[in-house]
Order: sequence, then C-alpha cells, then structure tokens
Amino acid sequence: MIVAIDGPAGSGKSTTAREVARRLGFVHIDSGALYRAFALAACQQGWVSPAGILPPERVAPLAAREVGAEVVHGSVVPRLEGRRLGDELRTPEVTACASKISAHPEIRNQVNAILRRLAAECEAGIVCEGRDMGTVVFPEADLKVFMVAVPDERARRRLLQQGQEVTAEKVRAESARLVARDTADSQREASPLRQAEDALVIDTTDLSFEEQVERIVAAARRRLDTVESDGLH
Ligand code: C5P
Repeated sequence: MIVAIDGPAGSGKSTTAREVARRLGFVHIDSGALYRAFALAACQQGWVSPAGILPPERVAPLAAREVGAEVVHGSVVPRLEGRRLGDELRTPEVTACASKISAHPEIRNQVNAILRRLAAECEAGIVCEGRDMGTVVFPEADLKVFMVAVPDERARRRLLQQGQEVTAEKVRAESARLVARDTADSQREASPLRQAEDALVIDTTDLSFEEQVERIVAAARRRLDTVESDGLH
C-alpha cells in the first residue's frame, strides 16, 4: 500500500508522515531529504552561488553523484557516496539550495528512481511525503493526502521545531521564507507543487498533531479494508 502525502514547506508533513507510518507498520520516506542530499553534494563541491543556484554545466555532474538511501528504524535515511546523512541536510544553505536544484528534471529523475526502487522493496507499505508524490511519482497511490496550513502557523511550528524563540518578528521572517519556497515550488515547470484531484485535503492550522495523524491513519485503514475486501471478491 502506498500513502502519498504532499503539501507546502512546514505544513507538518514530515513529523506526521513518520508517525502515520509507525502506526501502520509502514516505511516512512521523506523525498525532500533526497533533494537535500543532492543539494549537500552541490554545496560541498562549491558548485552553488551564494543564492543557491547551480550553473547549467554542473547539473549533469551533480545528477551523477552517488546518492542512495537505506531504511533505518522504519524511516529512509539518505546516503551520499555511501555515507549516511543526518543533521547536515537541514542547514539554511542546504535548504535554500534544495529548492533551487529540485527544479532540474535531471535531479528529479534521479530522486524519483530512488523513490520507486524503495517502494518496490518495502513490502508492507510506504508513507512517502513531498511535493509531487500523489501527482507524479506515485499517481497510483492508494491514499493521497494534501496537507495545508496558513504560513504564520507553519512558521511558528518551524521555529519551535528548531528550538528557537517565537517572536512576532521571527514568525514574519520565517513565514516570508516559507512563502518564497512555496512560490518557487508551485511555479517551476518540472513537477510543480499542486494538489492531486483525488487527494484528501487536511488543513492542519487548527488541528493538533494527534488529530492530523489520526485522520490519515483512519483514512488509510478504511482504504486498506476496501482493498482487502475487493481482493476477496
Ligand atoms: O520537504 P523539504 O522542505 O525537506 O524539501 C526540500 C526541497 O526539496 C523543497 O523546497 C522542494 O523544492 C524540494 N522537493 C521537491 N519535491 C519533493 C520534495 C521536496 O521539489 N517531492
């Protein structure tokens, strides 16, 4: 079974998807982490400008870098040249670069190949999250969810997640960064962020974490029941 969760930056996808996967006994796949692995490779090589832009002649060499993934405690962890990656994927530099390099179809093809291979290997099921899981990578997903929340709330959660103080000024600045990333992700030509027509839309602005998780788990269980009873007839 494939559960595809999409939505803008900071909508709560990652933490929710991880917990949904745990409750269903599925593997959690964060596709953004794979884009971040390519971004890290580009940053380490000194290939990106201060604005995070990769020159055209670097796209093919970057796509050829050895990015892989392995399942650790139920979640997929990216690897670069065989080395397991963690916190280094979350720096502001890598974040800015990831949203730029993800516009290149050559990089998207590499990430999508890794995602589809992982899905084929995970027998129980997967919960994968990103921007184009339900629209492009797994259009046949059994359940598609699109998570949204107003920018200020997403910014507030980001700051809390990073252990930062939540002041009106910081919320404004973080909110502006998130909206800029949403705009870039929605307006690019290659696999823009958009809601699948058959997605269940969940506005998490006023929902607790538990409520978000429960809604998706309940929808997935209903879907599993349908799939199983169809299989019996
Ligand atoms: O989800 P996360 O913020 O870690 O993703 C980092 C960047 O990777 C996003 O800003 C987006 O540009 C890109 N991304 C994407 N498609 C996905 C997942 C992430 O383009 N499926």
